[in-house]
Parts: sequence; C-alpha cells; structure tokens
Amino acid sequence: MRKVSFPYMGTSYIPFNKLLTALGNEVVLPPRPNAETISLGCKFAPEFACYPFKIVLGTYVQVLEAGADTLVSTGGVGPCRAGLYTTLQEKILKDLGYNFEMITLEPPGRHLKDLITSIKKLINTRLSFKDYINIGRFVWKQLTLLDKAERLSHKVRPLEVKKGETTRTYKKCVDLVSGAQSIKELTEIEREIELLYECIEKKDFDPVKIGIVGEIYVLLEPSANLEIEETLGDLGVYVERSMFLAGYTVSNAVMDLFHMAGERDIKKLASPYFKEMCGGHGRESVGNAVHFAKRGFDGLIQLSPFTCIPEIVAKSILPRVCEERGMGFLAITLDEQTGKEGVKTRLEAFVDMLAAKRKKLKTTTIKPQLVKEMS
Ligand code: SF4
Repeated sequence: MRKVSFPYMGTSYIPFNKLLTALGNEVVLPPRPNAETISLGCKFAPEFACYPFKIVLGTYVQVLEAGADTLVSTGGVGPCRAGLYTTLQEKILKDLGYNFEMITLEPPGRHLKDLITSIKKLINTRLSFKDYINIGRFVWKQLTLLDKAERLSHKVRPLEVKKGETTRTYKKCVDLVSGAQSIKELTEIEREIELLYECIEKKDFDPVKIGIVGEIYVLLEPSANLEIEETLGDLGVYVERSMFLAGYTVSNAVMDLFHMAGERDIKKLASPYFKEMCGGHGRESVGNAVHFAKRGFDGLIQLSPFTCIPEIVAKSILPRVCEERGMGFLAITLDEQTGKEGVKTRLEAFVDMLAAKRKKLKTTTIKPQLVKEMS
C-alpha cells in the first residue's frame, strides 16, 4: 500500500487525509510546521528560496523519515516559482538519498492528461461511481465546514468576554469535523458549530476592521504567519482574510478545468491599478484591497514571504490603493527570522493608529453592507 503524505497548510490535512485514505492509501500525516521543520527546510533549500518552499521542504524530510514513500503536491503555471517547486524539491530530496515518488497535481485547464495520470496513481482500491460521489461530497462538506468554523472565529474573537474562549471553541469545531464519519453527521455538526459560537458571551461594540491579503501559504497556515489572526482578534479586531481553501479550490481547480478565470470580479477591481498577471496572487491582493475598502474596512495587512515576487509587485501598488481609499496599510514580510513578539508590537501600533483615526473622524467607517455581513 502506498504511504502518502502532503504539505501541511491550515486544516486542509483533514479533508486530504480522508480523501487519500478513501482512495486506498495509507496516509502519513504531516506534522504542524515547527522549529525542526523550519530548520530542516532552511538547511536543505537554496538560500534565495521563498519561505513556503523551505517550510514544505522541511515537512517532506519529516514525513519521509516517518515512512512516507509518496509525496503529493499541487503544481502551477505562470511567472512565479510555484510551478517549479516540486521538481526542485524532488531533486534536493533524492540527492539527500530519499527514495520516493513525487506526484504533482497540475492545474486541470492546461494539464488535464497529466492530472488524470497523477490521480490514477493515487487510486489504490476498487470503488464504484457512487463511492466516488459520496467521497467527493463528504470531503467538500468537511472543507466548507472547516472554513465556516474559521470565519466564525474571526467574527466572534474580538467580541468575546472570556479571553481564549473563541480559540477553544474553534479547536473543538475542528475536532468535531475531523471525527465525522458521514455526511449526515457533518450536517448535524454544522448546526452544532453555529450553536457553539452563539453560546460565547460577547461584548457589544464595533471593532476595528482589518482585511488581510497576500500569498496563499502564509495566509492559510497560522504557523507561517505567526497566528496573526488570533493576535489581532485578541486585540479586539475583526479580521477578514481574502482567501479560504474552499474558494481557492473552486477558482483554481474547478473553474480552471472549464478554462474560466477564477475571481473575475476581484481581478476587475484590480484593473485600474494592475492589469497583468504576475503569478501567485499578486493581482488578487490588489483587487481584494479595493474590495475591502469599498466595504468600509479600516485597514489592510499584506502578508508576504520574503522574496515572493508577485507580492513584491503588489506591495508597490497597495500603498496607493489604500491612500486613495482612506484605508491604513501595513506590509508584513515573513521568513524564518521573523519573531512573533516583533510582529505583535507592529500590529498593536497599527491597530492603535486605526482606532485613533476613527476617533478623529468622530465616525465609524462601518457601512450598511458590512453591518449586515457581521450580524
Ligand atoms: S507566490 Fe511567492 S512565495 Fe509562492 S511560490 Fe511564488 S514567489 Fe514563492
């Protein structure tokens, strides 16, 4: 039986684990990136490699040591380095003496044949058509529920009376989704998640609102962004991230299959500033900044890995977008040298500045649409 593993990114390991197991593989679960992961990644990656490359490489060393013989990752097209990640990582790991197969899931729009060949390698049991449908439905439901639980945590954390209650509730929701065995169970859990968040005692005030944009890995993996959403929530800030895994899957896999551009509205919003594709999510960062400004957010934070080309391009445009639209802007660059306390100090200063600006204007920037979304 294949012993399969994959990169760790947010809670995506839960549906991926379920999917790969249902397809007849033994899964070697990747550990949450820790100091050892980063140290291994930095040791074996080229110095100029972007931070997610190093974290993922470190994870691969850990799972290969734990017995994995197959690594699965996504590929990519376009001008940034993501499309060459797996090729380079495979070469580095094989030079280190590891014996394994790297399976790269390329975007379906341009590499459908390769994608089908890769998927076939991961199907190692006999399944009926109905089985495939049921597995697909279950995994999708898990994915959307995990996103929902996280979104609710962002909404409730700034309002909580007892510090830490939202984080504890969120962890409980993740455990519930992870332990579910059927669609019926997941449907019941969905209601339970809503009730758990409703039960948290909340303060009644209008929190400062900050939108977060940037590169996908540092957006979705809390250990890479030093738990920025939790830190901001604890500071009494409502945060909204521009990307979640379910939305990313739809725009980059499903829509790509039909040769349709994902996030078309967001790209349109970026067009007065930035019309070209620059790889990664650089253009989407600009479009989402405009979107947050239109909805009355007070500030914008851009998260980017050190040396990330698409986000460097976006960073040259975002200050103008924010200035023109009255939104505060903070750029945070992340790598293995970035410390949590240093980032926290910068966040505290940024939030104080946004709160002072609100006070000075003697008005809230909240717009009716946002009030509706938050209620
Ligand atoms: S988007 Fe940025 S961090 Fe991600 S692979 Fe491309 S250059 Fe590296």
